[in-house]
Amino acid sequence: MKSANGTCRTGGDTTKRYDVCIVGAGPVGTYLTVMLAHAGLNVIAVDSLVKLADEPRAFTHMPFMFKEFEKAGILEQMRELSKFRGDAISYRRTKDQQVIERLAPIPNRPLPLAVPQRNLTELLIDKLNEFPNGELRFGHRVVNVEQKSDDISVTLEVVQTNETSTLQCKYLVGADGAKSTIRKFMGIRYEGTTLPFKLIAADVVFPFEKYGFNGANFMLDPENFGMIALTSENERKETIWRVSIGFPIESSDDEIVKALPDKFQRLLEDLKPGQYTLLKAQPYEAHQFCTPTMKKGRTMLIGDSAHLCNPYSGQLLACGIFDASSLSQCLVSVIQHGAPESLLDEWNEDRVSKFKDVLDPFSKECFAATRDPDADTIAERHPFLKAMKAGPKGQLPTIHTDVTKLKSWRSGPN
Ligand SMILES: Cc1cc2nc3c(=O)[nH]c(=O)nc-3n(C[C@H](O)[C@H](O)[C@H](O)COP(=O)(O)OP(=O)(O)OC[C@H]3O[C@@H](n4cnc5c(N)ncnc54)[C@H](O)[C@@H]3O)c2cc1C
Repeated sequence: MKSANGTCRTGGDTTKRYDVCIVGAGPVGTYLTVMLAHAGLNVIAVDSLVKLADEPRAFTHMPFMFKEFEKAGILEQMRELSKFRGDAISYRRTKDQQVIERLAPIPNRPLPLAVPQRNLTELLIDKLNEFPNGELRFGHRVVNVEQKSDDISVTLEVVQTNETSTLQCKYLVGADGAKSTIRKFMGIRYEGTTLPFKLIAADVVFPFEKYGFNGANFMLDPENFGMIALTSENERKETIWRVSIGFPIESSDDEIVKALPDKFQRLLEDLKPGQYTLLKAQPYEAHQFCTPTMKKGRTMLIGDSAHLCNPYSGQLLACGIFDASSLSQCLVSVIQHGAPESLLDEWNEDRVSKFKDVLDPFSKECFAATRDPDADTIAERHPFLKAMKAGPKGQLPTIHTDVTKLKSWRSGPN
């Protein structure tokens, strides 16, 4: 059954034993489900949503992700969908919108793709429909988990009827986002800090192009900092721009929404009421959180259920996809190629370290650079700019896991 709007084939077999059950069919859970189904495992993903959410969330995909999209068989479609076509990444002083630094595409260094995460998830769901051994059930919330010696028993509740059913699996993966139920069942808590600002993610239609904006624009100012980036198009072929701005941490969500028109004008004077269409706006706190472990027994956490960071590094979703990609390889190695379960412990150690030691500090530095009081010399301190301006040798910190380097890794016969 092909999906047009994020629906998928749903099985009703409650006695079937799955190799892996994935809780959460956001981009990270769906990516893992596709990769495991592709490898031939019996997998199921469940999500409490009745249909896919359409919140203003991630949309940027760095070039280092392209290999992962290729593995899932969706890279060409991502390229077709991207509205970010060879545009630049600019760093501007908020007070006069002057470009301080500009990263244009050069041969061998493509720029990111811009595809809203809902569209990415839809592509993955379509892909999953190609595999008879991969199932997806929307409208099913996980309400209980019991880990037995061989099996894990997962109780699901149909959100519209409250009817319950149970399924059995060998491995369970929580990809159920920041408020993860699976993390709570595992008795694991996030650790970390909350940044002293709230952010809003607002999607607007406004002709930023007329003001010389293209691609992604970081607005640099200690108080009026943020980002303006093109994300997608509406049915009328108008460009939808994401505007992200910071607010004092003590502001309530209502106060943030009320203050939004004034804040918009601080980014660009002509961005005033009557001149733009506000499509969506979501205030949120910027947490730098991660769990001390992403594994307990045969249950694993990936994506936002395991870690969160501010969006100014543009790499949180990427980190979740790397969790999923490496975990799929490790689960296949254990289930199909007889690798010892210690491989999953080694995976866990590496993934916790990739977030804690690499992405968490890098994303904090990106956030601080956006608020730097001396915008004119930002290239000397912004970690992303420093890496890019170092030329072909310039490297972003590596947040992917090379599973072949894990001690217990075992590959299959080729
Ligand atoms: C406003 C905002 C802006 C962002 N901007 C960026 C950005 O620019 N760049 C970037 O990289 N990242 C950004 N992010 C982060 C990015 O959106 C997340 O990293 C991404 O959504 C993580 O995907 P996920 O699949 O781990 O979790 P989610 O997308 O949160 O998916 C979790 C799924 O689990 C389901 N679920 C939860 N509980 C249960 C349950 N008990 N039973 C069944 N299902 C359940 C939910 O319904 C949901 O569909 C942003 C986030 C927010 C909130």
